[in-house]
Amino acid sequence: MDLKAQLLSAKEEAYKAINEAKTLEELNNIRVHFLGKKGVITSVLKTLGSLQPEERKEIGKIANSIKEQIEELIKEKEEIVKKSLIAETLKKEKIDITLPSSWIEAGASHPVIATLVEITDIFVSMGFSVASGPEIEYEDYNFTMLNIPENHPARDMQDTFYLNNGMLLRTHTSPVQIRTMLSQKPPIAVVAPGRVYRKDADPTHSPMFHQIEGLLVDENVNFKHLKATLKIFLEMVFGKNIPIRYRPSYFPFTEPSAEVDIGCTVCGGVGCRVCKNTGWLEILGCGMVDPKVFEAVGIDSEKYSGFAFGLGIERIAMLRYKITDIRILFTNDMRFNTQFRGI
Ligand SMILES: [Zn+2]
Repeated sequence: MDLKAQLLSAKEEAYKAINEAKTLEELNNIRVHFLGKKGVITSVLKTLGSLQPEERKEIGKIANSIKEQIEELIKEKEEIVKKSLIAETLKKEKIDITLPSSWIEAGASHPVIATLVEITDIFVSMGFSVASGPEIEYEDYNFTMLNIPENHPARDMQDTFYLNNGMLLRTHTSPVQIRTMLSQKPPIAVVAPGRVYRKDADPTHSPMFHQIEGLLVDENVNFKHLKATLKIFLEMVFGKNIPIRYRPSYFPFTEPSAEVDIGCTVCGGVGCRVCKNTGWLEILGCGMVDPKVFEAVGIDSEKYSGFAFGLGIERIAMLRYKITDIRILFTNDMRFNTQFRGI
């Protein structure tokens, strides 16, 4: 076959291949096969030197023209392939913006946390700051420095979770009082909300529960200040003119000490199962800081006096939401939890 026929046959072959090609990769292979350094057309061009001038001119012209035509055709086909690739991608990634979105369940505060935050906010609004301490506590901070000596029943192994490193899970938030008084000088006004632990489990007790503790230390603080503070607090939680009474009590870290009751919110004071027919509900414990506690933290009890109070958050939450079994608060049952949306 002469060179001219070879070129024409190569051209035909190239056209056919380009026509059938479906991808950019195939087109590139065709380019290499015909026009590359060792390509069919290139090889013909390389032999031109050995031809007669006339023939060289003619074949050279045909070869260059075919080269350009193949190149042109490949480019055109590449454009077509690119366009169809884009169309295919657009089709595949099409998003129907009219479809409804998936339902996102709204969250809700747990009744215990909602109550804890609300109570904390009330005291913050009265000028108290929020203090915190660890749940794994020194025996000294939890007991000794709060005037609870070695042989005191509160230390009983049956009530307290002791750890084998000599520490314990705090049984009340009161060690935060100790930590605060060790690190700050009076005047002090703090509340300490947090988790506490005791070996106790029945419908009204949980081995883990929440308390909030309050401490105010300054010059000339007396029991009237305590009563006024608690009155504001109890009225903000249970409503104005809620009946309040103080009963003398005993706590190792306060002297004098009192327990505070409010008129039963369930029966209005007539007597019911919740108040055990007394018409009153125990709400919190309080008292004037015992001078021995001041001594333990190095505060001059001649110069300063103070009051402290503490209450269980679960008890308040149960009264407010009329929950009769404390355990349901910690079952994490969404049917229960979602009832408190918006509180
Ligand atoms: Zn009652």
